[in-house]
Amino acid sequence: CGIIGIVGKEAVADRLVDGLKRMEYRGYDSAGVCTLHDGQMVRRRAQGKLANLVTELASNPAPGNIGIAHTRWATHGAPTTSNAHPHATPHVALVHNGIIENFKQLRDELTARGRSFESETDTEVVAHLVSEQVEAGHSPADAVKAVLPILRGAFALAIAFREFPDFLIGARLGSPLVVGYGDGETYLGSDALALAPLTQKIAYLEEGDWVVVAAEGAQIFDKDNHPVTREVTTSGVSA
Ligand code: GLU
Repeated sequence: CGIIGIVGKEAVADRLVDGLKRMEYRGYDSAGVCTLHDGQMVRRRAQGKLANLVTELASNPAPGNIGIAHTRWATHGAPTTSNAHPHATPHVALVHNGIIENFKQLRDELTARGRSFESETDTEVVAHLVSEQVEAGHSPADAVKAVLPILRGAFALAIAFREFPDFLIGARLGSPLVVGYGDGETYLGSDALALAPLTQKIAYLEEGDWVVVAAEGAQIFDKDNHPVTREVTTSGVSA
């Protein structure tokens, strides 16, 4: 339902939660964050109110200068902690807004290839599909390029890669996703409001776009994988 990602120069967990708070108006049933720190993926999730995630983070912090976060409005799978995003493999963690319509078929294929699932969500297939590519030695960008055409339905995605702690990859089709440009930091958000305290400089991704987000900026590609520029506007949303 709500997505935020930060590639920063300072700790991100509190700022991710703050961004989620700004998207509470969208409604949600669970929430979670994943940061990258010291070669590890640090994932914290909680059912119910954001206050539960804040409590979880108080006893189990999520250090790190790069991370993704999500408020979930369940479409497939009950509103439980194990169905909360981010969904992850040992290599990849991701958050998703929307619905993967062909997830059943994809899940059956992945299961037949020996992969096992820890949630009932449509989203988790995407984590496994991207992870398979990375595990096969493909770069994160090539992994995303290979997987996006397989997905049917609507999605905004923000993906973190354990072995690549300097960038996130975002993608959108049928669900909005924006890139925010800060001072030595770059952001992803499902709306400009989520990023308002961080930056007013926003680029709206177009249908089929995907983006590599690093601290020093973002490289955007269209659905045919051609590099493109998207206009940077001033959101005018106040912090
Ligand atoms: N379809 C996904 C799920 O049920 C994402 C829902 C959302 O947009 O929050 O987990």
